[in-house]
This record gives sequence, C-alpha cells and structure tokens, in this order.
Amino acid sequence: MPKGRSFAAKLAHETSMEGKIICPKCNSEIKKIKLIRARKSKADSWAPKYEMVSICKCNENDIMSGKI
Ligand SMILES: [Zn+2]
Repeated sequence: MPKGRSFAAKLAHETSMEGKIICPKCNSEIKKIKLIRARKSKADSWAPKYEMVSICKCNENDIMSGKI
C-alpha cells in the first residue's frame, strides 16, 4: 500500500485549498466581499457604509437582491 504517497497527495490537496473556506451547508466556497450600502444619515446626506460580508450559495441570492 502506497501510504506515503496518499499522504503527500492529501497534503498537496490541503495546500491548494489554503485560504479558501468551504461552507459545510452548500459545499461551495465562502467568499468575502465588500458591500457598499448607502445609508441616509440624520443630516440628510448619504453616507456610504462599507461592510465585509461572507457570501456562499446559502445567502448569495439574498445578498444580491439586497435582502440582507
Ligand atoms: Zn453555504
């Protein structure tokens, strides 16, 4: 049994996945995106609000349609 080889292959796989987060629910990559939301302030001026959001297949439709 080529145990050493399969271990190396597993390591290579994990290295290639470095920096990626996979959602356990939809099994797709979770991406960090920057959302810009314009919020009207009390002074009647629009203040853009920057937000980092984690997005995957679970919530991308809601985020893209502006529900969240
Ligand atoms: Zn998901």
